[in-house]
Amino acid sequence: MKLIMKFGGTSMAGSEKIRHAASLVAQALRQHHVVAVVSAMDGVTEQLLAIADHAEAGDRSSVEQVLSQVRSAHESTADALGCLAETRELLSRLESLATGIMAVGECTARSRDAVVSFGERMSTRFMAAALGVACGSPARGFDGGDAGIVTNNHFGEADPLMDISLMQVRDRLAPLVEARTPVVVAGFIAQTQSGVMSTIGRGGSDYTATILGAALGADEIHIWSDVDGLMTADPRLVPGARLLSHLTFAEAIEMGKFGAKSMHPRALEPAAEHGIPVRMRNTFKPDNPGTLIGSAVGQPDARRPGETAVRSVPMLKNMAMITVGGAGMIGRPGTAAALFDALAAARINVHMICQSVSEAGISVVVSMAQLDRAKTALERSMRPFIGTRTIHAPATSDTSTSAPVLHGIDVVGNIAIVAPVGSGMRGVPGVVARIFSAVARKNLNIIAIAQGSSELSVCFAVDKDAGPEAVRAVHEEFDSR
Ligand code: ASP
Ligand code: MG
Repeated sequence: MKLIMKFGGTSMAGSEKIRHAASLVAQALRQHHVVAVVSAMDGVTEQLLAIADHAEAGDRSSVEQVLSQVRSAHESTADALGCLAETRELLSRLESLATGIMAVGECTARSRDAVVSFGERMSTRFMAAALGVACGSPARGFDGGDAGIVTNNHFGEADPLMDISLMQVRDRLAPLVEARTPVVVAGFIAQTQSGVMSTIGRGGSDYTATILGAALGADEIHIWSDVDGLMTADPRLVPGARLLSHLTFAEAIEMGKFGAKSMHPRALEPAAEHGIPVRMRNTFKPDNPGTLIGSAVGQPDARRPGETAVRSVPMLKNMAMITVGGAGMIGRPGTAAALFDALAAARINVHMICQSVSEAGISVVVSMAQLDRAKTALERSMRPFIGTRTIHAPATSDTSTSAPVLHGIDVVGNIAIVAPVGSGMRGVPGVVARIFSAVARKNLNIIAIAQGSSELSVCFAVDKDAGPEAVRAVHEEFDSR
């Protein structure tokens, strides 16, 4: 078999864990053709981003403080694994870069990518050193860019240029993989066509793994982390939550953004497109089979017999709903476009959208962290659309008989989104009724509802305090039925 084995930050946190991960790769290499992909050590990406921010703000003492944490964690790991000299060289390049950013007082997205790339570059050295020892023959380490992944210039969240990336990866790695040379590739980082370091978005190492898998025609892609796999619900909310042994690509993509431990949703695209199963596994319990994400044979999203309609009940916390309303929006083409353009320009991530047929209001759900920015953007750009009826209504006209018209921008903060997911709900009447009856029996108020036409999930918003109970109600309704 040809395998891609990707290790996340928690599997790379310190020399002992890295040696353990390397032993899993070495073991697989005895029977299979393998490429290892690694993330930065746990928490390091955040530290590097903090260095970039402090440097841009000219806060030298904070830069030095975080840098010294990064330095000591990496030096002690490198020392234990026998790659101290190369690690020190990377650390000193990181330091010069931070000094340069402080000197100009500006950190462009491109410089930020350069700073943040050091996490994966160092952990690649670590894994290569450990793997060389575990296999008894030297391992080859590649930065994402060297391995052949090329992106556009959207630094911070660059898009891989697939055709050329797949071709280059194949050219560079296939002969090594064929020869069973131990190979380690840095996740998350790539380069632009002119050779400038770029990154492919937070959590991007999973994406690197699936791109390599597609390029090399892998049989399976293994994503190793510190959890057993994907669950029917967050076990902290639902004590009876169970591990899912399998999921379809569509279900997993639908669940992708829920929960810190699930995958970057785009990461599954190359695997789904090339039909390569992805297995989520626990580095610390390698005998567990984990969760297999794949296509049902011949029919990617077919409902398997006896399968429950709702497979998993994820929840997103810390959300807010913004409703933009006004009579001026009714029957006026371009309203939604203006609203979403404004949010896109402010780089706001929209999690859920609702509009009723009356067209008098559009609600969008964003994270609390982005709420202020979203509100400011909408206040500025939606002026022409909201409240025109009030403004232009002649003073004598009688508006008391017409329905109340929302106008303005209304915010409901601190909500949770619950999103029961399952391909078994497609085309099956009554699933939505069961979901909402279960919630109603607990006497919980639903603030908004959305369902995409894919019918793979139904999202609803509730007050944040009602979230966990709503999850439990829906989980209980569908558990093993
Ligand atoms: N280190 C990067 C991040 O934390 C990429 C990854 O872990 O997948 O986002
Ligand atoms: Mg990480």
